[in-house]
Order: sequence, then C-alpha cells, then structure tokens
Amino acid sequence: MNVLVLNSGSSSLKFQLIATDSDRILQNTDDRLCRGLIEGIGGEAIITVQTRAGPKRKFSNPLPNTSAALEYLAKWMTSDAAGIAEIRSLQDVHAVGHRVVHGGELFAESTLITNEVLEGIEECIDLAPLHNPNNIAGIRAAQKIFGPEVPEVAVFDTAFHQSIPDHAYLYAVPYHLYRRHHIRRYGFHGTSHRYVSERYGALCALSRQEINIITLHLGNGCSATAIRAGRSVDTSMGMTPLEGLVMGTRCGDIDPSIVGLICAKEGLSVRDVEVLLNSHSGLLGVSRLTNDMRVLLNEAKQADGRGARLAIEVFCYRARKYIGAFLASMGGADAVVFTGGIGENSPEIRARICEGLEWAGLNLDVNRNGQMVGLEGRISTDHSNLRAFVIPTDEELLIARDTIRRILGEQHPSQASNLSKVVTSGSR
Ligand code: ADP
Repeated sequence: MNVLVLNSGSSSLKFQLIATDSDRILQNTDDRLCRGLIEGIGGEAIITVQTRAGPKRKFSNPLPNTSAALEYLAKWMTSDAAGIAEIRSLQDVHAVGHRVVHGGELFAESTLITNEVLEGIEECIDLAPLHNPNNIAGIRAAQKIFGPEVPEVAVFDTAFHQSIPDHAYLYAVPYHLYRRHHIRRYGFHGTSHRYVSERYGALCALSRQEINIITLHLGNGCSATAIRAGRSVDTSMGMTPLEGLVMGTRCGDIDPSIVGLICAKEGLSVRDVEVLLNSHSGLLGVSRLTNDMRVLLNEAKQADGRGARLAIEVFCYRARKYIGAFLASMGGADAVVFTGGIGENSPEIRARICEGLEWAGLNLDVNRNGQMVGLEGRISTDHSNLRAFVIPTDEELLIARDTIRRILGEQHPSQASNLSKVVTSGSR
C-alpha cells in the first residue's frame, strides 16, 4: 500500500510517499517513493522534491494555502514528470498519515480519523495553538482531495508519553490547575522516541517487555525519554517543548522565578520572555553565536571560542544529568540510545555526554563511536553494562507504518486503545 505522510506547518508542508505493508514492516523493507517540502505557502512557494531514483528538484508556484499546496503536490505526484512508477493516479494513494502535534489526554495511540477524532484534535488546540490548527488544515485538505474512501490516520507527538504515571506527569502546583487547565507534562518527540525504541528492540531481538532504555533525541529540539518495558515512563519535555534539555534555541529547565525577574529587570512582557526562552536561548543564547552544533564544535577549537565551549559544556552536562536522573527513577536501564541530527552525527558530543558515566557501567568504544556517523549500531564496548547505541530516527516511516496498522486493524502492542475516551469525552 502507498501511504502519503503529511506534516503540515503554518507555511510549510513536508511530505513522503512510502510503500509499506505488514510484511515489509516485519522485514524492515518499506520503500520510500518520494519525499519533499513545500515552503512559503501563502505566497510564492518553493517546492523541493526528490523521488527514489531522481535528483533533488526545485520549483516555485504561488500557493495561497495548505489546500492549494496539497492539490499541487497531488498533481505533481501523479504526473509523468514526477516519474513515480507506482503512482499513476490519485487512486494509487491508498492512505494518508498525518503528524499531529498534540493529542492531549485524549489520544494515547495513532487513530483513524473520523469526525469525532477531528473534534478531539480541535479540543486540543488550546494545548498547541500554533500547531494543531495547521495539522487540522492538512487533514481537511487531504479529505477534500482524496475523498472519504481513502483512510486517514493521525499520529500524535504526545501519544507515546500518555503511559507516563501521574507522579511523573504532575507538576507540584495546586491540583485544580491540572483539573481546570490540564497543566501537566505531556512530552513531545513521541514518534521519534517510539521509533527508536522499536528499532532497538528489533536490533537486539527483544520483545517490547524487555526494552528498558533511555532515548536521547538531540536535534534542534532535544528531549530524553525513560522507556521501561517498551513504554514511556518519563520524559524531559513538559507542558510545552520548552522544558528539559538545553536545545538549539530553547533554554530547557530553568527556575520559573526567572521569568518574573527578566520581565522586571528588562522591561519585557511575559510573552516577550517566552519568545526569549524559546528562540534566543539554548546553544544560541549561551554561545551568542549560533544554534548550529557543527559550527559550535569548530568554533570551540579556536582560541577565542569560549562562548562555543561553554554552550557545548552546558548542553552536554544537562543531557548527562538527565541520564543519571532517569537511571535512578527507572531503576537502571540496559542502554542509552542517541538519535536526532546531533545524536546521530556527532561522536564528540556523544562522548562528552557519556564522560563520567563509567560508574553507571557505560563505557564508550572510541572506534565504534567515531565511526558511527549517520549509521545504526552499538557504540559501547563489548563489556559495558549500560550499553550505548546510535539509531537514526525516522518519524515519517513510523507514521506510514502506524497508518497501515490502523487500517489493517492491527493494534500497536505498546499502545492501549483510548478511542472510547475520545468518543465519550466532554469538552476540554
Ligand atoms: P530538527 O530538530 O530541526 O529536525 P536535526 O535533527 O536535523 O534538527 O538536528 C539539527 C542539529 O544537528 C543542528 O544543531 C546541527 O548542527 C546538528 N548536526 C547535524 N550534523 C552534525 C554533525 N555532523 N556534527 C554535529 N552536529 C550536527
């Protein structure tokens, strides 16, 4: 079956077309037919596409909204110019999988989209006002183009973390704030953490029950997740993606009193400070240079690179601290798994994070670590009690696979159905 995977943003639409089915999922032989990005929706958009065989191609076209962007994409995919042998007409797209940022407490698993489910996603807009409306626009556009006979599935960033117990998701603020406003830890990057966890299980021939790991997704956004018996039991991101690890431009954990203090001292509004903590902090804020780890690693080698060195140290220290905290809270783990642009590609950062974790049984193999760039495999020594792996993430693939599983009625083993909750829930 050919699954179109869509990630709809405010002015962008990321897509992949993946051929997959139960057998291909089992054998890890899913086939990526094409991928691409439409940017600048709302004006003269830039469309970048790449098919399995062909080179990267770029076009531009005025595209006023998501619906027009998807129509353009559908026309291109089915054209001779695209040259995708498997897609000759819209009927060759058998299903659509949507990335949806926030499923609140309503969605603990990927879900076939019905009117009730769409209402549920709308109810979660309060929790992700910048993201869920765009995801909904993507769903509505796809429904318009592909019609009711093509099944569509929503895959939520938050769903994997719905297994976190209350003592880990509650903040120690007055309980009525949770009841009234749903203020709690939700966690994000769930699709990535789950993909990496499933892949670790496949690599090590483990059942879900046997997966006890800490996953570190280190990209522009960064988060750590404690996974016990294949389920998320804690994660570093919170009510929003701002909490936890140091990120490209986000500060991660800070003392909440700092917000009021910055407002008073700098004459800024709370909203201004939120922007400062989300967009001007993290690696960028500390280094005063950039949020790009590659540049920072180069800069750190220069004599005047103190800002870069400091930013890297703060970044690695925070990640190490979370590994330690999760080891304690989950009663030990079998492995630490690195993913995301930094986690997959930077042996130096991985080594810096793992430095001093020998007490916990983690010993990196210098050669394996150095060679593991954009590859999948073990980077710890043979005798390391706490092992370390690099597993490149693939959120689109998980979305395509979940879409197929839902359509075929296969329950994903790590998830419990929560759909009845959606259908019967009141307003949130
Ligand atoms: P996003 O969260 O936007 O998907 P990515 O997962 O692509 O981001 O990660 C982007 C980060 O990965 C950037 O900080 C970039 O510098 C870093 N990165 C990519 N390649 C390397 C590399 N070879 N060495 C160090 N950092 C890298």
